[in-house]
Amino acid sequence: MPDSAFPLTRVTTVAALCATVAALRQDGAKIAFVPTMGALHEGHLALVRHARTRADKVVVSIFVNPLQFAPSEDLDRYPRNEAGDIALLQSTGCDLVYLPTVDVLYPQGFVSRIEMTGPAMGLETDVRPQFFSGVATVVMKLFNQVRPDLAVFGEKDFQQLAVIRAMVRDFDLGLEVVPYPTMREADGLAMSSRNAYLSREERAIAPRLHAELEEIRSAVLSGADAEAVIAGAKDALTTAGFGHIDYVALRDAETLGEIRAGLPRRLLAAVWLGKTRLIDNIAV
Ligand code: AMP
Repeated sequence: MPDSAFPLTRVTTVAALCATVAALRQDGAKIAFVPTMGALHEGHLALVRHARTRADKVVVSIFVNPLQFAPSEDLDRYPRNEAGDIALLQSTGCDLVYLPTVDVLYPQGFVSRIEMTGPAMGLETDVRPQFFSGVATVVMKLFNQVRPDLAVFGEKDFQQLAVIRAMVRDFDLGLEVVPYPTMREADGLAMSSRNAYLSREERAIAPRLHAELEEIRSAVLSGADAEAVIAGAKDALTTAGFGHIDYVALRDAETLGEIRAGLPRRLLAAVWLGKTRLIDNIAV
């Protein structure tokens, strides 16, 4: 079936969303949900395609969530491309795109927040204290509005994935959280909407982040001391032209706390390159 055989419905209000999801759900169709902030790239589209293999109908939301941006962050300049996003979704097999405005998600008088601990502690939270409260609050709202059977999240935002898993478990949300591997450019750079901020010179340096993570992994797997190897990699990043290093850390892959003997580990990093903050992570 050609991709264009999927008619894409577009809604902007909660009432229209609920009515359309109810229609999609007729005859017991399984609904998959992919929340995004738009400026869609191949990484997002891979999530949508994967969602299609796991469900009968796919709902995508596009919402740049002000609650997860600190006042100093890039909310106003975050890339937006609604028409381009809709064309991409149309050709990727999405059934319904939900484009709420800020007023729809946070009407006047909205006062509630989801507060997460556990995997939300440290790493991103050390530099962006309100970030996961903002993420969890919007995702909880979107889950309650869409009521999907499953939701697909990218491993690119590995700590976010861990936080959403914990929230779904702790609040008995009764949906499956499906992880999807990080999609990369040919040179290893993790795809990200924020890569559009990179100058040509920065874009040439950017893949070094993934390369350093790979080097740390090899060294740790061959028995080197993780702290020493990470210190060396940070120096190499600085020499390559990266700016402030928010973190490069080896953590337990589930709790994101201290590593536990014999259990999966994840190497996570957030590093500035000019005015752009890049994040990446790999399994160790
Ligand atoms: P965002 O629009 O950045 O909020 O991302 C929306 C979803 O797409 C999240 O689940 C991200 O983890 C996922 N995502 C973003 N970039 C990638 C990528 N390069 N590979 C796989 N998933 C991604």
